[in-house]
Amino acid sequence: MTAYPHMLAPLDLGFTTLKNRVLMGSMHTGLEETKDWNRVAEFYADRARGGVALMVTGGIGPNMEGSVLPGASMMTSDKDVANHSIVTARVHEAGGKIAMQILHAGRYAYGPKCVAPSPVKSPISPFPPTELDEEGIEKQITDIVNAAVLAQQAGYDGVEIMGSEGYFLNQFLVTHTNKRTDRWGGSYENRMRLPIEVVRRTREAVGTDFIIIYRLSMIDLVPNGSTFDEVVQLAKEIEKAGATIINTGIGWHEARIPTIATSVPRAAFAWVTKKLMGQVSIPVITSNRINTPEVAEEVLATGCADMVSMARPMLADADFVNKAAAGQGDRIAPCIACNQACLDHTFSGKLTSCLVNPRACHETELVVAKAAAPKKVAIVGAGPAGLSTAITAAQRGHAVTVFDKSDEIGGQLNMAKQVPGKEEFWGLVDWYRVMLADLGVTLKLGKAVGAGDLSGFDEVVIATGVSPRDPAIPGQDRANVLSYIDVLRHKKPVGKRVAVIGAGGIGFDVSEFLLEEGHSPTIDLPQWMKEWGVSDPAEHRSGLAPEGPQPGKPEREVTLLQRKAKAHGKDLGKTTGWIHRATLKMKGVSFVGGVNYEKIDDEGLHISFGEARENPTLIACDTVVLCAGQISDRSLADALEAKGVHCHVIGGADVAAELDAKRAINQGTRLALTF
Ligand code: NAP
Ligand code: SF4
Repeated sequence: MTAYPHMLAPLDLGFTTLKNRVLMGSMHTGLEETKDWNRVAEFYADRARGGVALMVTGGIGPNMEGSVLPGASMMTSDKDVANHSIVTARVHEAGGKIAMQILHAGRYAYGPKCVAPSPVKSPISPFPPTELDEEGIEKQITDIVNAAVLAQQAGYDGVEIMGSEGYFLNQFLVTHTNKRTDRWGGSYENRMRLPIEVVRRTREAVGTDFIIIYRLSMIDLVPNGSTFDEVVQLAKEIEKAGATIINTGIGWHEARIPTIATSVPRAAFAWVTKKLMGQVSIPVITSNRINTPEVAEEVLATGCADMVSMARPMLADADFVNKAAAGQGDRIAPCIACNQACLDHTFSGKLTSCLVNPRACHETELVVAKAAAPKKVAIVGAGPAGLSTAITAAQRGHAVTVFDKSDEIGGQLNMAKQVPGKEEFWGLVDWYRVMLADLGVTLKLGKAVGAGDLSGFDEVVIATGVSPRDPAIPGQDRANVLSYIDVLRHKKPVGKRVAVIGAGGIGFDVSEFLLEEGHSPTIDLPQWMKEWGVSDPAEHRSGLAPEGPQPGKPEREVTLLQRKAKAHGKDLGKTTGWIHRATLKMKGVSFVGGVNYEKIDDEGLHISFGEARENPTLIACDTVVLCAGQISDRSLADALEAKGVHCHVIGGADVAAELDAKRAINQGTRLALTF
């Protein structure tokens, strides 16, 4: 008897059956743009072998003007059909099903030729769109339908028509972006004409036995978005027009409410999809922040949807469904929703991967094969760098021993998991623990090792991490000064007025920790919705609460300082930095930059500004917390090298600057593939 009966139940679509209720949602990985179709095929085939019922590709443009970027992948020619056929053949060989997403970006297209219902520039693009005339609209429909026909020729099992997230079809639906007065604008009947026409004509062109998923925005989260009555009306018309499945879209890309970041509660929007259940007779998929089989099962068992979409979790672990079906849910590498190696890469023009699983999108390059000769491997440091080395080395058949002076594994992950909004790190540390046990890795915790303890190993890996940087501020040894480790690990008492020195990732984390004092809106959905101003779209158009964000009362008064004069948090994650900045601003944190730290005394922190050390100012506070960055802890590596013992130095022990778990895990995994 499985623990996930709803998630693993097949879904009969009439002309075909999906083997379970898990859809791999669309992601822009950048793989298609590499034009290495073998690599693209292997990425999807790996996930098909992992048991997912149906996958949706990244968005493929139906024409130049609708493509997300100049040079982005399109489906317009026989050559495209031939390339995509490599993917579909490999997926089918692996027993999977795959649909191609047709993505017309409209005014979100990053190029001067972008088109839209009206010439209203988007706040997230520098390019004002050209308003389409009747002929132009007709061309867009024809191109989308043509892309679907070509996808069918390429062997896809279906297409997903992207109608949400503020893209082209969504732009016609709402007065926020559609100011037209012809038959494509004005009344809601007119505004929804285009999406319906696209689905109707696509169905006509592809025949009956081809999956058409329509991705429908159920809560726009932007001013003047759809009401829920309009959502239901559209869904019914989309069903009539011939869609097989309706998938949920949450929020436009320009919305200023987080929808998928790690601080968003798990399955935070499943209740929105549930409102559509029973209103249409075709299956409905829900999405966003579903990342474990338990959450997926709960969402389905409580009638929120017929299927769940998980995208990033399939980067973290291609075998998600098979492991769940085999009762090995605790071995699924968890997506922690950090966006660091997926969306942050996409938006920086880099190939997607995954912080937890560097093999994602690198399947052909990083192959975990059994080592020709098993070795004895010693790894010092049980943080992310050491643990990822250990797991990959053990998978390759090496005998691995991990040492750490702490009596628990996880290193700095154990501090991250204390931060409100970073609860997912608990699951990551748990996963490492399960995997180490499963793979027979020997753990020697609670004792610092010296160079003399490491003889008899074939490979020695030093992953001893980092130590806090000494900012050398007069008065920093006083009792009213703490380090981030004192706060996050040792939970030392902190006063009500706090100055945080250093506005890097840790300075932001510590500030969030101090503002919440043990409570986290991430595990309190009603509170999280209130904080961000999310309401029921059936009550308030677009799901925006009329009173706006209502942050809870902060537990402390926090001043966050840095020496540089640029804006705080500029170097945080590309897709998540704005959330951290907004959170701190909402809770009244003062951002002070361009400072010199003069001294700390009983009154608080004394600073001055600029090179001339002008404008002396007191930040009156009870506690000063030092988050001034970190330096490599290389003492063991140096001692070994002095004895002539060769060792591999990785993670923070190698380079502390800009260290994060992504680099540490990537470096550890890659190292373990070399010996
Ligand atoms: P960091 O990001 O390098 O920030 C260090 C901070 O300390 C900076 O604000 C820096 O600003 C300040 N600083 C540097 N030298 C100083 C000195 N001598 N005296 C006073 N202030 C000094 O390091 P971190 O915050 O320790 O984070 C470590 C790593 O973990 C980073 O790579 C970070 O990205 C990662 N991390 C990421 C997240 C995340 O949300 N993604 C969260 C936590 C940690 P000024 O030089 O301007 O003063
Ligand atoms: Fe999930 Fe982070 Fe991996 Fe992206 S990088 S798939 S958010 S764990």
